[in-house]
Amino acid sequence: MAAVVTISHLVKKYGAFTALSDVSLTVGAGEFLTLLGPSGSGKTTLLMSLAGFADPDSGSIRIGDREIMGVEPHKRNIGMVFQSYALFPHMTVGENVAYPLKLRGVGRADREDRSRRVLSAVQMPGYENRRIDQLSGGQRQRVAVARAIVFEPDIILMDEPLSALDKKLREELQIELKHLHRRLGSTIIYVTHDQKEALTLSDRIAVMNRGQIVQIAKPQEMYEHPASAFVADFIGYSLLLPIARSDSSSVDKSQLGALADNPYALLVVRPEKLDIVSEDHRQPGHFYFTSEVKDVVYQGDIVMVYARLKSGEDIVVRRDSRFATLQALPRGGSPMRLALHQSD
Ligand code: ADP
Ligand code: MG
Repeated sequence: MAAVVTISHLVKKYGAFTALSDVSLTVGAGEFLTLLGPSGSGKTTLLMSLAGFADPDSGSIRIGDREIMGVEPHKRNIGMVFQSYALFPHMTVGENVAYPLKLRGVGRADREDRSRRVLSAVQMPGYENRRIDQLSGGQRQRVAVARAIVFEPDIILMDEPLSALDKKLREELQIELKHLHRRLGSTIIYVTHDQKEALTLSDRIAVMNRGQIVQIAKPQEMYEHPASAFVADFIGYSLLLPIARSDSSSVDKSQLGALADNPYALLVVRPEKLDIVSEDHRQPGHFYFTSEVKDVVYQGDIVMVYARLKSGEDIVVRRDSRFATLQALPRGGSPMRLALHQSD
């Protein structure tokens, strides 16, 4: 049931505006792939092209061996979940879930049996006869997922399905979706602008910007080795520090090559990799930065240290509060020296 999706050189224009610019992407059978990018980057347009609700100007989309460009949406065998529930308000939960089966000519007994099973799979057993307006937002989204998977589609597309829910419920449903994916083994293409959600859910993430895919990687690889400043900045909080302005007396510049003296070269630094060190800390292979602390903010699980580098950049260093007792942190107005190991 899980299928490979092959997107090649897809272009979609709205008048003079290019919403998708030569997008190519292969999604493996059973893979959970997330399209991540800022608003307007083309995520929904790509998903709608897959579903058949947007008509690309050129390129090809194959599900397995089958070219689906030009095929009508309901003949593509794709399940979809949107941010707004798009459930039929006048039908019961059971009728909503069974609807795609009815469209496909499945008999009543079989429909009811399959609806019952998928409602259990999304943690809503026994809700068949409820009305949609009796359900909470989270329950509606579970029903929407049940309706998208009930006919065993080749692929499932989800466009920001959790973004209307509050944080706690969103995190709960992320874990449920992950488990559901593991059980179903289906190919899922998921859209979000939330980097944490992408890291949590995905086998691989494709970061989009201005109608293009700018990097595809597994979550950890994406986080540790962003291919550009854009990706680094978008996935997780990062500092972009000019190499030339580090107090880098102890850095082995031979390893950096030409970058060492390039005034534009930036170090992409994950704040959790920075150590707060004493004034006299000197060890080979470290970059050092001198800063002045502006503010220290305790937020329960983390402590945020706002500071300004000697070179003028504002930075925020986050510490896990388990490892950062408030007493040990620098105070506002005091100097703070930061060290980064070169291999980090
Ligand atoms: P995302 O889902 O990443 O926020 P979209 O795919 O919805 O982005 O939109 C990408 C770009 O295409 C946006 O700049 C948007 O304004 C434009 N766009 C989307 N749909 C249309 C349309 N029907 N007509 C004109 N422009 C559109
Ligand atoms: Mg969108």
